[in-house]
Amino acid sequence: MPSSISLTDICRTGFHFKQKIVMTEISKNKVVSLTYELKVLNDNGEKELVETADTNNPMVFLFGASGLPDKFEDNLEGKNEGDSFSFALESEEGYGDYDQNALVNIPKHVFEIDGKIDDEMLMEGNFIPMSDNEGNHMQGRVMEVKDDEVIMDFNHPLAGMKMFFDGKVVSVRDATSEELAHGHVHGVGGHHH
Ligand SMILES: [Zn+2]
Repeated sequence: MPSSISLTDICRTGFHFKQKIVMTEISKNKVVSLTYELKVLNDNGEKELVETADTNNPMVFLFGASGLPDKFEDNLEGKNEGDSFSFALESEEGYGDYDQNALVNIPKHVFEIDGKIDDEMLMEGNFIPMSDNEGNHMQGRVMEVKDDEVIMDFNHPLAGMKMFFDGKVVSVRDATSEELAHGHVHGVGGHHH
């Protein structure tokens, strides 16, 4: 063994070698960019495409702080740039069962703006941003408009559905310290502020 090689040199060489072959894996605090297709089962039991993120408009999120179902992230953890994925989430692993209690009758006057009802807004199927007594924001879907009240559905649109994801990892990078402090992604596909 040549005496000119010190232990630090050996460590350093090993480190470089490792850097070369180990790509950035999807893990906590990485910024992940994905393309995917999301399908759900329709009433006939057939898969129906409900959402697409392609290379022009990929989904970009901070892994571990995305607000996405835990199981969604679990299925992606450890994957590298260029890897494909294909997995299904049962409704209980996704957005939960459809909850009849999340159907709420709301007096129509709540929707008045300057004493007037906006009929365009109160169309069946429309999503309306609302907040509860504690200031929590949520999306409500207009189910039925009656004379003096509106039936709103506060279930997640994908509640009660088994979801099928097929896609590809576009890129994985370390989050910046600023992104970690804010808890969201900056730049392309993220927040601009
Ligand atoms: Zn920010």
